[in-house]
Parts: sequence; C-alpha cells; structure tokens
Amino acid sequence: MDNPEWARILQHMEHRSDILIVGGGLNGPALALALAQTGHSVTVVDALAEKVRKNAAFDGRAYALALASQRLLDAIGVWEKVEEHAQPMLEIKVTDGHAGAGPSPFFMHFDHAEIEEGPMGYMVEDRHLRRAFLEAMAEHAGITEISGKTVVSQDITALGATLTLDDGSTLSGNLLVGCDGRRSGTAARAGIKRTGWDYGQTALVCAIEHELPHHGIAHQFFMPPGPLAILPLTGNRSSIVWSERSETAKQINALPEADYLQILRPRFGDFLGDIHLQGDRFTYPLNLTIANSFIADRLALVGDAAHGMHPIAGQGLNAGLRDVGALAEVLTLAGRRGEDIGSTLVLERYQEWRRFDTASLAMATDVFNKLFSNDNPLLRMGRDIGMGIVGSLPGLRRGFVREAAGLTGDLPKLLQGRPI
Ligand SMILES: Cc1cc2nc3c(=O)[nH]c(=O)nc-3n(C[C@H](O)[C@H](O)[C@H](O)COP(=O)(O)OP(=O)(O)OC[C@H]3O[C@@H](n4cnc5c(N)ncnc54)[C@H](O)[C@@H]3O)c2cc1C
Repeated sequence: MDNPEWARILQHMEHRSDILIVGGGLNGPALALALAQTGHSVTVVDALAEKVRKNAAFDGRAYALALASQRLLDAIGVWEKVEEHAQPMLEIKVTDGHAGAGPSPFFMHFDHAEIEEGPMGYMVEDRHLRRAFLEAMAEHAGITEISGKTVVSQDITALGATLTLDDGSTLSGNLLVGCDGRRSGTAARAGIKRTGWDYGQTALVCAIEHELPHHGIAHQFFMPPGPLAILPLTGNRSSIVWSERSETAKQINALPEADYLQILRPRFGDFLGDIHLQGDRFTYPLNLTIANSFIADRLALVGDAAHGMHPIAGQGLNAGLRDVGALAEVLTLAGRRGEDIGSTLVLERYQEWRRFDTASLAMATDVFNKLFSNDNPLLRMGRDIGMGIVGSLPGLRRGFVREAAGLTGDLPKLLQGRPI
C-alpha cells in the first residue's frame, strides 16, 4: 500500500489482525493467501515499494517449483495466474563434468514418465511469480498489504504481538510470522540464534536464449568449483545457476557479455547450439543458515528466515512452501478447535513437523555440494560409480523422481492439492 492517505490513517490508529507477516517476498504472500482462505485476517509488511515488488521486466531470475509446490500454488489461487508462463520440467540429467573436458560417461537420468502424477515440476520466472502473488493478495479482502515500510521493532506479550514500522505506525496481532529472509530481523529481535557457514562460493545467475530446443530437460553439471544448472524456461530459453569460488565469480561477473559467455560455453558444451544472454546477470554469495528454533513466544519463522540453503538442488523455495502448508494447516486446525493460535503448544506442532525435515534437507544439500565441488580422483570415482548405480536401478530412480517432484515425506494437505 503506497497510498499516503492510508499511511497517515495507519499512523494514528493501531491496525489489528489475527496474523502479522514480516516479509512479502515469496513465502510471506503464499502464507497470507493460505491463511486468508481459512478465514484469518492477515497483514503483510514489506520494506520494498510496490512498484519494485511488481518487477515487471524480465531480469533473468527463475525458480524450479516441484510438483507439490505447484499444487500448493494452485490451491491458493496463484497457479492460474502464472500457468501460461510456466515451463514443465519433464526430465533431469545429472552429469559429473569438467570445464572443457566434456561430461563423464556416468550420469543419472530422471524422467517424469516414471511417476503417474505428471511433470516433476515447473520453471517459473521470478517476475511472473511475484506479480501473481501481489494480484492474488489484492483480490483477498482478508489481507492487508503494506509496501515500502520497514519493521523496526517488535514487542511480544502474553496477549499478542506488536510491530512498529519506520514511519512510527504500529500493527498488532495474535501471532507474528517472520518471512523476512536469510537475515531475518524477526528472528534476531526474538533472540533466536542461527547455525551455518559460508561456502566460499557465489552463484552466477542469468538467463540464456539458445538456438536449439531444450525439450523440457533440466541439466545439472557437477564441476570442481561448484555445480552448474541449466533449467528450461518457456521458448528456447534457459535459466543458468552457476556456482564458482567467490573470487572467480566476482571476476567473471565483471566481464563484458561476450567474455562471460566465452567462459560459460565450454562448461556445458554445445548441445543447445549458439547461446546469447537474456536479461540481467546476478550474483548470490552462498551460505547455509538455519535458525536454532523455528518458533518463540507468539512467533514462527517460515522460508529462508528459518532455513537458507545451497541452491544445488533448487530446493529453497520448495522447502519454504512446505513450511507454508504446514503452518497454515497447524494454525487452521488449532483455530477450529478453539485453541489460541499464538500459544507455544500450537506452534510446537509446526516446529516438530518442519524443523527436522528442513535441517536434514539443508545438511543434505551441504554434503552434496562438498562431495561434488571437489576434484579428488578417489571421490570422483566413488561418486561416478554411485551415479551409475542410481541410474541403473529403476526403483531407486523412481524414488529420486518422486523426491524431485516433492512428493515424499509428511506432506501438508495443500501440497497434496487438498483443502485444509
Ligand atoms: C541463486 C539462487 C537460486 C535459487 N533457485 C531456486 C530454485 O530453483 N527453486 C527453489 O525452490 N528455490 C530456489 N532458491 C531459493 C529461493 O530463492 C529462496 O528460498 C526464496 O527466495 C526465499 O523466499 P522468502 O520469501 O523466504 O525470502 P525473501 O525472498 O528473501 O523475502 C524476504 C522479504 O522480507 C522483506 N523484509 C526483510 N526485512 C524486513 C523488514 N524489517 N521489514 C519489512 N520487510 C522486510 C524483504 O524486503 C523481502 O522482500 C534459489 C536461491 C538462490 C540464491
């Protein structure tokens, strides 16, 4: 809400809702929609101005959404707004590579035909996803959205949570949810510590246009400095997430476009024909950061605020949307039973459901990255043999396809495509 009149009104009155969400990135809006659908009043605050959040131009960022995440987006009314821009992921090919040396003969190939449910997931551009969330929230009477205001303090008592924004206005609610990303101020203000480390790697992110079609195939090449993913977008376009040691990444990103492509090309060969850059280039320093607790008094953490992980398996947002499904289900069922949704007893159900799962996933991406970002010949031989074994056993392969589609584990109802 950029309207100055509203801003003045809010400054002089305390706005109250059932749930306050700090962070209107991706997980915040998903949670707001899931909760508003079950009758909760929700306020979402984000520091970025609305026009920045609408991000109309293509800027090269995109997400791999697992099938289970797509089901959640469908259930909260967002999928119908992005569907026409989504590229189904039909196959995934994983290869042990070496820049310029070509792929190793050992690789894993996962095909959606091994499961009955459909594609393993979809690639969706950041701009379409963010715009769809904003539109869906604007259509919901139960959601109040505040853009361009930063939360500067929070006060939690036995009766509720109060937020103070940078314009001095206050908001109150029964429960505060931090969806404010890896450096979550909500967690820090509640005294929640984090565990994690830097990888010394930086992801170079861009989109390319290519001469030949990708046929809906996603590729993951494991290189000694870090993994390189080529993820299919609509048309003859792909999203590149390419991890390098941070110093090298900085130098590569500073290069003119032609030299940047000159370095990228030999890393994955010429199977897509000639390539060109489309949109901007981004860099993301990579780290692992897990909140030591996902809850505190009248407070819960969701998405990257709870767990920021390596993008090696494209699981960050998918894990966040599982949090969204779990928290919305826990709170809704508690509310129907007449329980206080901010009580520790209720919030512990969310923490029990999600903390072990996400900590294991974050550690798995960590081990995977360490195992593959390595040129030790013994490790290389071991992982090549391992890939050969997984690739040749249909049962194991099918398990991996189900995992990539996000269909394993204790799935919240929304991720099963069922209402709460
Ligand atoms: C290179 C890369 C590639 C990735 N690819 C994939 C992928 O393919 N698939 C996938 O599932 N995941 C992927 N991820 C992970 C995914 O990007 C994140 O998990 C996701 O963006 C997290 O969303 P979020 O809403 O939790 O946090 P964020 O997107 O970080 O949003 C946090 C929001 O909080 C707001 N905020 C913060 N502090 C305040 C405050 N004090 N007051 C008001 N507002 C505040 C910020 O303005 C921001 O909008 C990738 C990540 C990286 C780095």
